[in-house]
Amino acid sequence: MSDPFTHGHEMYYKIKELQDSTNNMVTAGFSTRYGGVSQKPFRSLNLGLHVKDIDHNVIDNRRRLAESIDTQLDQWVFADQVHGSDICKVEQTDKGKGSKSLESGIIGMDGLYTRERGLVLALAYADCVPIFFLSEESHIVGIAHAGWKGSVRGIAARMVDTWVTNEEVAVDSIHVFVGPSIQECCYEVDQRVISQVDDSLDDEDPRPYTAKGNSKYQLNLQRLNKQLLMRAGVPEKNVHLTKLCTSCNVDRFFSHRKENGATGRMLGFIMLEQ
Ligand SMILES: [Zn+2]
Repeated sequence: MSDPFTHGHEMYYKIKELQDSTNNMVTAGFSTRYGGVSQKPFRSLNLGLHVKDIDHNVIDNRRRLAESIDTQLDQWVFADQVHGSDICKVEQTDKGKGSKSLESGIIGMDGLYTRERGLVLALAYADCVPIFFLSEESHIVGIAHAGWKGSVRGIAARMVDTWVTNEEVAVDSIHVFVGPSIQECCYEVDQRVISQVDDSLDDEDPRPYTAKGNSKYQLNLQRLNKQLLMRAGVPEKNVHLTKLCTSCNVDRFFSHRKENGATGRMLGFIMLEQ
């Protein structure tokens, strides 16, 4: 099966299936490290304002990405992310928040969703898992940032539960696309992490990791999130995983682990078209 994330533009992978299946009602993607102005170690399309890059370069990069999908940067909404599981609904009054400064982003949120057209929801990543949500029939989109902490804290299920409870979305109408992140091939973790992964799952669930001995494990965050989404009621056929690994592909992506923390950030973004 072909990967749901395809390299349609120098600056980003797009979720072709999501755009095609909705007749381009939704635009969504995940940026690469190509096509920006930042210098080493942020070369070149660093989109994170919190990594000690030069702010005006980051804003220039964000503007380039915004223009590449025919939007203006002031339509974009960013969050100040904390590896938590809180999510919030974004309205027109939030337009532009966090787009040009860290402080103006929506505070303490790792998930955003909206029913408004023309707002681009954006979150920053370098190995953590970008999760994109859509219910076409309910005209709602969302995005979450799930590292191991956000994953075990259940941010993916929180998005689903919030939509079902507060937005009257039918759970089987929700489609989820899980984007480029560090994958099992490159993600070694210790017992402390695995204990919390186990706590987040039921006893009968298959384990999304491989034990290597010496209390070391290779963790598959994509599969963990898929299992948590299915437990929240999303049909398995509606959950689409990429095979792209950020750490295996540091020529294309920033990888926090592979580059020992000195690196830039990609953006995941999603928008209901005007
Ligand atoms: Zn890898």
